[in-house]
Amino acid sequence: MSIALPFDNSYARLPDRFHVRQAPVPVADPALIAVNDALARDLGLDPAALRTEAAVAAFAGNTPPDGAEPLAQAYAGHQFGNWVPQLGDGRAILLGEVVAPDGRRVDIQLKGAGQTPFSRRGDGRAAIGPVIREYIVSEAMAALAVPTTRALAAVTTGEVVWRETGLPGAVLTRVAASHIRVGTFQYFAAREDAEALDLLTRHVIARHYPGAEDPLALLDAVTERQARLIARWMSLGFIHGVMNTDNMAVSGETIDYGPCAFMDGYHPRKVFSSIDQFGRYAYGNQPRVAVWNLAQFASCLLPLMGAEGPAVEAATESINRFPAIYEEEWLRLFRAKVGISWPEEDDYALIAALLEVMAQQNADFTRVFRGLATGMAAAEFTDTAPFAAWEDRWRARIAEEPAPEAVMRKVNPAYIPRNHRVEEAIRAATEGDYAPFHRLNKVLAQPFEEREADAAFALAPLPEEEVRRTFC
Ligand code: AMP
Ligand code: MG
Ligand code: MG
Repeated sequence: MSIALPFDNSYARLPDRFHVRQAPVPVADPALIAVNDALARDLGLDPAALRTEAAVAAFAGNTPPDGAEPLAQAYAGHQFGNWVPQLGDGRAILLGEVVAPDGRRVDIQLKGAGQTPFSRRGDGRAAIGPVIREYIVSEAMAALAVPTTRALAAVTTGEVVWRETGLPGAVLTRVAASHIRVGTFQYFAAREDAEALDLLTRHVIARHYPGAEDPLALLDAVTERQARLIARWMSLGFIHGVMNTDNMAVSGETIDYGPCAFMDGYHPRKVFSSIDQFGRYAYGNQPRVAVWNLAQFASCLLPLMGAEGPAVEAATESINRFPAIYEEEWLRLFRAKVGISWPEEDDYALIAALLEVMAQQNADFTRVFRGLATGMAAAEFTDTAPFAAWEDRWRARIAEEPAPEAVMRKVNPAYIPRNHRVEEAIRAATEGDYAPFHRLNKVLAQPFEEREADAAFALAPLPEEEVRRTFC
């Protein structure tokens, strides 16, 4: 028996060279870790039906749902700046697309569903740790109002996955506006396949940017969404960790939660990813990297724009709008973070001065900003004098604000997926105990209101608890 989802698979209807038809590889013994009831309801799906044995078999890849047209997507990409002409879904299978009651079309993808022709030397599988991390962090991002892929379900496979050691295998059911990446465009551009580029461009415009009239308008729109997205990351202390071009979705959603992290102590050069040796994807580099990735995207669109001087000029101008959009969005977000609703000329300097003091003392990013609303920020500094000086200046600035605390509470979370909490949930899940995972998800679903019972989740890690490295 298989479950039925209301599929309408527009990507599967694109020509053969966009994908490889590939069924998920069945696993030994599927068992449910979690179903995301709220997301299921948003998608018009019955949460109870997603907890049946047939649904669990579907989430494990053993019995794909009726109407699914499983495939692995082709894409290329720059990994840490190095060009790789073929990547593709090596451990993910797109089941198809579902149109939600509100008209939104979403991909339903299984991550960790077995080998595909794009697996290279990989096993096509996911260990439980990365599945738990992506589930927690992507759902936390959604609760923090950041555009992101979502987690609909997670299952264990009953199989062992070999990394440095043997680990429980798991599969994540990921929901995304689409999984089309900058790298998808690069795949066809590198093959000089103008017809495919044209089809892909039309597909992306119809799906994500229906107002865009041509490839240049698409570039404008993608640039704008990325600028706003990265500003949001920055406003929360989020570090993606692997901003390769194959991990940048043209929809403007955050995608591919690998060795990502929310900073505890603030410093613009913070890096967590174990594979980011040179800090290419450090917190403070994220806007620059986004522009670099968008330049790759732009160069893919050039053949559709005439490829001559004027096209290059127009594309360059389009990407050059990034800094202004980013800075405006950044300032809008950070003004709210310090309780300002009536902008003034000097606000940037005021905010930058706070960040400077925080960076000097590795002050906790989340607790300082939350502390501005609760009067507890000073406690985050070891040397309180520089903050006290800043605070005087700030209090004078917001003196005329009608309700600065309310403004700040709405945007400065009390709860973020702190690395030590995520690791704790992963450790327990690896031992078969999902209680910490469920507890953490529940806390993070309501990040903006303090609750007595969840006070421990708002704390920074003790020095011995602090996680400085994250792994894929
Ligand atoms: P990522 O670092 O997750 O963005 O993945 C980069 C590329 O490596 C993609 O083509 C993935 O499909 C592929 N990949 C990552 N892990 C595996 C794995 N365990 N098996 C097969 N392919 C993988
Ligand atoms: Mg094909
Ligand atoms: Mg990826």
